[in-house]
Amino acid sequence: MFTLSEFNTYISLVTGTNPSRAWIEMNIEEVCMDVIEEDGSYEYLENVTLDFLINSRELDGYLSGGSVGDVDINEFDIKLDSLSMDVEGDKVTVEGRIKLRVDTSIQKMYSKYYSVNNDANLEIDMNFELNFSFNYDEDSIETQDFINHDDFDFEVTNLELTSVNIEDDEECEVEFCVLCDQRPGEYNYHTGGLVCESCMSSNDTCPDCGVVFERETMHGAYCRECEANH
Ligand SMILES: [Zn+2]
Ligand SMILES: [Zn+2]
Repeated sequence: MFTLSEFNTYISLVTGTNPSRAWIEMNIEEVCMDVIEEDGSYEYLENVTLDFLINSRELDGYLSGGSVGDVDINEFDIKLDSLSMDVEGDKVTVEGRIKLRVDTSIQKMYSKYYSVNNDANLEIDMNFELNFSFNYDEDSIETQDFINHDDFDFEVTNLELTSVNIEDDEECEVEFCVLCDQRPGEYNYHTGGLVCESCMSSNDTCPDCGVVFERETMHGAYCRECEANH
């Protein structure tokens, strides 16, 4: 039996590469996970993901009405895919795809005043690039501690929502129409609260922002605020 460091040396002789490089090549997935899971990379990944989920509006289409207000990530599962590695001197660049599965809680906003929460399982694919340097000396060969953790750079780009599985609404209380107080409110009313379908149709609705106003109180076809954009 070889020890791992003997094996590395052997591989290096055969392939003409240095032992740490050979070790990194053999353990590339583990090495990437190591670097991603520490030193702030994990927080970075979480922040980029949250920013994408909240601000890209891509989730809105999957909600039955409403739009994404806030997202909490409860659990994260990272899988790496299509890894390729480039070495120059002691610098390593790894590129590949991250397949992220996240358990989230999504706040679904119906209006400024009314929202419900849904648990959702999401899958998000993205490209990543990881740059770090490695140590190559007797010590690091002995301990297989090749990665220089002080000096790395991790970036993800092109986030893409590939799977969305949203659980049923958590118990939600119906908010009644502020005009008739008879039916559930669905549309934003200009002074706050929601109005129902029937009350909406007997009032005016701004085609830009969708807010309902009393008859004849809008500025032409749009509300005062939206009028400025026309
Ligand atoms: Zn009503
Ligand atoms: Zn408007």
